[in-house]
Amino acid sequence: MAIASINPTTGETLKTFEPLKNSEIAAKLDIAGKAFEKYRQTSFLERSHWLEQTAIILDQEKADLGKLMTLEMGKTLKAAIAEVEKCALVCRYYAENAPSFLADVTIKTDAAHSFIKYQPLGVILAVMPWNFPFWQVFRFAAPALMAGNVGLLKHASNVPQCALAIADIINRGGFPTGVFQTLLIGAAQVSDLMADNRVKAATLTGSEPAGISLAVASGKQIKKTVLELGGSDPFIVLESADLETAVSTAVTARMLNNGQSCIAAKRFIIAEAVADKFQKLLLEKFQALKIGNPMDLDTDLGPLATFDILQELDEQVKKAVKSGGKILTGGHSLTEMPGNFYPPTIIIDIPVDTPIAQEEFFGPVALLFRVPDIEAAIKLANDTPFGLGASAWTTNTEEQNHLIQEIEAGAVFINSMVKSDPRLPFGGIKRSGYGRELSIQGIHEFVNIKTIWVK
Ligand code: NDP
Repeated sequence: MAIASINPTTGETLKTFEPLKNSEIAAKLDIAGKAFEKYRQTSFLERSHWLEQTAIILDQEKADLGKLMTLEMGKTLKAAIAEVEKCALVCRYYAENAPSFLADVTIKTDAAHSFIKYQPLGVILAVMPWNFPFWQVFRFAAPALMAGNVGLLKHASNVPQCALAIADIINRGGFPTGVFQTLLIGAAQVSDLMADNRVKAATLTGSEPAGISLAVASGKQIKKTVLELGGSDPFIVLESADLETAVSTAVTARMLNNGQSCIAAKRFIIAEAVADKFQKLLLEKFQALKIGNPMDLDTDLGPLATFDILQELDEQVKKAVKSGGKILTGGHSLTEMPGNFYPPTIIIDIPVDTPIAQEEFFGPVALLFRVPDIEAAIKLANDTPFGLGASAWTTNTEEQNHLIQEIEAGAVFINSMVKSDPRLPFGGIKRSGYGRELSIQGIHEFVNIKTIWVK
C-alpha cells in the first residue's frame, strides 16, 4: 500500500510520502538505540512531567488534530476530538500511576531481602492501525515511555500525517530526542525490523494476517509481542433488559467510528421474547441516522476509511445474502455519493453455521440473530474464532453472573457497551490476540520483571 493521505469523504489524494530507505531506517534505529541508553536513566518525575506536557499539547490542539484525523480516515469530527481528549487522559493516567505500578515489590522468602524490580526492555516497535489513529498509539506510548522504553511507530499507510503529528507532539512534550520516532514504512519492512537487535519487542493492533505475520517474525527472534486483533463482539439482549436503553446503546456500539472498531458490537443476539420489538426499534434508529460529511457536527455516520474496506464490506454483505441472510435496511454502497460511504445495514436470518457468520464486519452492518434462551445466547456468542469483548443486557442477577462466567472474551460488559478505559485492562483471547493494554497489566507487558534475591 502506498503511503498516502486520501480523504475518504471525497477520494481526493491530499499528500503522498516516499517510504523510508533502508539507510534511513538504520539511522533511526541507531538514534533509538542510543536514546534508550540515556533515557532508561531518567526518573519517573521527569517522565511524568514530559507526559503531562504532552497531555497539555493534546488538549490545546485537539480541534486541529481532530480535523487531521477526520481528513485522513473519515471519523466524525466530534469523535476525533473526543479521541484526542482520551489520549490526554491516558497520558495523565500513566503520568500519575506508573511510579506505583512499577515500584519494587517485596516478596517474603527465606532470603534476607527478595523483591521484584521492573526495568525497561529497550526499543519497542508499535505497528498501529488507522481506525483510532491517535488513541491506539497513545495507549501504547504512555505506559511504554513511562516504563523507560523507547518507541518506534510504524503507523498504517493511510494515516501518515497523524503518524508524523504524534511524534511531533511527544517531542514537543519534552521527551528527549529519539525516545519516540515515526517510521514511514510499508508493512513489508516490518519483519526486517523485528530481526534487528535493537528492537526488543513489538505490539500490533490490526487484522489477523498482520498479527500472524508479526508473530512469526518475532517468534523467529524470540521477542515478546502483544497482539490486539479483530473481534466479532456479541451484544446479547435477554427478556428482562431495559429495551429502550439497550437499543440506543446498540446503535452507538455498532456505529462507533463509522462501524470500524474492533470492539464494536457486531452480532446482535436477541431473546425471541423481545426480538420483534428490538428489531423494530433498531431499524427505526438505523434509518434515522444522518450520513454525510464527517466534518459536520450533526453527521452521525461518515465514510469508511479506504475504498478497499468499502469493497470488502460490500462483498461480505453480498455473501451474507447468498448464504440466506435478508437485508432489512441498507445493503449496498452509496455510489451516488463521492467517497467511501456505506449505509447503516441490518441483516437477519443468516444461518449461524455459514462461514460468513464467523467473519468480522468492519463497517456499519449489524447481524441480528434470535435465540430461545440464555443458553442458546451464550452458545452463539462463543461460536466465533474471536474473543475480544461482549455486551450483555439483563436485569436478572443470576443471568448476569452466568454470562460473566461463561462468555469467552477478554471483557464482558453488563448493561453497557464495551469500551476501553485507561483504568481497566484491554485485550482479547482466541484469535483476537493476546496480552493486555492499559491499566497495571498494560505497563507490565514491556518490562523485565526482574527477580532479586539478597542473602
Ligand atoms: P491491517 O491489519 O492490514 O493494518 C494494521 C497495521 O498493520 C497497519 O500499520 C499495517 O500497515 C500493518 N500491517 C499490515 N500487514 C502487515 C504485515 N504483514 N506485517 C506487519 N504489519 C502489517 O488492517 P487493514 O487496514 O487492512 O484492515 C483490514 C481488517 O483488519 C479490518 O477489516 C479489520 O478486520 C481489521 N482491523 C482491526 C483493527 C482493530 O482495531 N483490531 C484495526 C484495523 C483493522 P499498512 O497500513 O502499511 O499495510
